Amino acid sequence: MRRKLFAANWKMNLTPAEGRTLIAALRADLDRDAAALARDRDVLVAPPFLAIPAAAQALAGSAVALGAQNMYFEPKGAFTGEVSAEMLRFFGVSYVIVGHSERRHIFKEDDETVGRRAAAVATARMTPILCVGETATERDAGRTLEVVLRQLEIGLSQFPARDAANVVIAYEPVWAIGTGRTATPEQAQTIHGALREALNERLGHDTGAAIRILYGGSVTADNVDTLMAKPDIDGALVGGASLKADSFARIVRAKSA
Ligand code: PEP
Repeated sequence: MRRKLFAANWKMNLTPAEGRTLIAALRADLDRDAAALARDRDVLVAPPFLAIPAAAQALAGSAVALGAQNMYFEPKGAFTGEVSAEMLRFFGVSYVIVGHSERRHIFKEDDETVGRRAAAVATARMTPILCVGETATERDAGRTLEVVLRQLEIGLSQFPARDAANVVIAYEPVWAIGTGRTATPEQAQTIHGALREALNERLGHDTGAAIRILYGGSVTADNVDTLMAKPDIDGALVGGASLKADSFARIVRAKSA
């Protein structure tokens, strides 16, 4: 059985001090039933880079893992504005989001470099969360599957074979991110099922069945339970609703299918 994973993507929000306060409140909330939650689910927060050191301190001794929102694939050098695996690992980062739609669409990262980032994260013994998702225009043109399967294929094309199972996929329809317009559980399950099939085909059934596929796009305390009831939805990548401890804690407590 796959453990659920609930990931908080703070995006470009929260100073180190604000991040520390949010983590303290989240820990206090989740501590109330820590043992029950730890049985079948994992939790992580992905702060902006500058809040990572403070977040690492605030998370010390907690079951909540530390994530980052991106990472460059080269180990060091003349790459202004980028951050390396070693820099993230220094602070205990264990998950790295790659290919988030905001990186793809605002910052023009392409499938190929997203794939290189994913491979570099795994090579550095961290877990990449590879995001895929179609725009509204692509969905309206009936191209959803073509787009997400291409992003998956190229995103994994440079992945080290021995790390095949060490990846998390996040299906995030671009039209649902930050819009308040969530995919229905049925729409999401259709795509998750297709992603699972592609993973099975590419990596074999055992590995495909072990990989977690998260849904992201306006997940809230109100819609998380119905999404998590679907067989191939293994957790959530949460933006807006992760910026308040109580709403994210409620999402983490989603009813497990
Ligand atoms: C995200 O940032 O990945 C996301 C899904 O954002 P939101 O939950 O705000 O739609």
